[in-house]
Amino acid sequence: MNLPIYLDNQATTPVDPEVFEAMKPYFLGKFGNASSKSHSFGWEAESAVENARKIIAQFINAKQAEVYFTSGATESINLAHFGIAEAYLSKGNHIITSNIEHSAVAESLHLLEEKGFEITFLPVNNQGFLNLNQLEDSIKESTILVSIMAANNEIGTINNITEIGKICRANNVLFHTDASQALGKVPFDVEASNVDAASFTAHKVYGPKGTGGIYIRNSNPKVKIVQQLYGGSQEKSIRPGTLNVPGIVGFGKAVEICSENIGEESKRIKYLRDNLYKGLLSYLDDVLLNGSLENRLPNNLNLCFKYVRSENFLTEIRDIAISIGSACSSAVQKPSRILKAIGLSDELAYSSIRFGIGRFNTEEEIDYTIHRVVETVNKLRNISPARKLRQEELTK
Ligand code: PLP
Repeated sequence: MNLPIYLDNQATTPVDPEVFEAMKPYFLGKFGNASSKSHSFGWEAESAVENARKIIAQFINAKQAEVYFTSGATESINLAHFGIAEAYLSKGNHIITSNIEHSAVAESLHLLEEKGFEITFLPVNNQGFLNLNQLEDSIKESTILVSIMAANNEIGTINNITEIGKICRANNVLFHTDASQALGKVPFDVEASNVDAASFTAHKVYGPKGTGGIYIRNSNPKVKIVQQLYGGSQEKSIRPGTLNVPGIVGFGKAVEICSENIGEESKRIKYLRDNLYKGLLSYLDDVLLNGSLENRLPNNLNLCFKYVRSENFLTEIRDIAISIGSACSSAVQKPSRILKAIGLSDELAYSSIRFGIGRFNTEEEIDYTIHRVVETVNKLRNISPARKLRQEELTK
């Protein structure tokens, strides 16, 4: 077993060696520009791009023409929000989202709010789920878009996007979903869930960083989207700029591997995740699970270890790559807004750690992680004044 162990697969995944092998030729001999129409280098690159588009479209049950390549989910989400807001302004200026979205969703919608759009940030319950009646009640005449993530990046909760899609369709409102964490982990079907636009990224599915995609429905209804970048006519001008051919090839290969193994892989990863959870609970008390255990990504575990500051924990446990799971600014670290949204106090949010299990983790690594986490939590609790106080209270 090699150290450090990587258990932060929600942040990013390693590139699968098969993906890397598929990409390699497109850095070297097959380096053509996919927009070059006059020679074989261009044709070869274009054909590789179209093959990747086909694989991704098939995987999400879309048409090939409905998938566009971007630099990642952040760009796709911005394009969906700004592009739809601009295209539908004559219909209305109201957008609905949740308060546990990734910052790419939250921040782009905050900007639209500053520009005069009305944004409703719906709360979630202590398990991390929206009240779908409240969602439906929030839709009004001026609502043009609902943007709700398929699965959460911190607590791994899976939203019922099929029900959300149904509500949106029944109310004639477009539905965008950030599927970055769901793609390749749980079934995702744009037809079954009435999704009108979806954002995703290669680096969460063992593909390369800096490559992503957006699905934009082109019939029933045809979604209008105003391009946000100006340049050439690549990606039907919706996303101009020379295509990242090796990245796209890698994304296609990564999705192909997911499509072949999704059921089996999810089962194996869930088994490791459940072992980790059970193992930690068998040795430690005062451990709380953040977010629902049901309807949760198989690879995610977000735990609160009472009386342990997560920064201290991470400093102690250098041999395992795990994370707090919240965006932190360089100097001042704020408690995760996702954990706050599901009702955690600052203190409990500051004591939470995210474990993200992936394709290349082994049982041996999980056993080692259980041992190291138990050892570290006990060490830090032994010097915790809050824990000491609590124990004194209990023995009174
Ligand atoms: N949305 C979610 C849920 C994510 O987890 C991430 C990745 O951190 C993103 C969006 C942004 O993706 P990208 O890094 O490709 O811009």
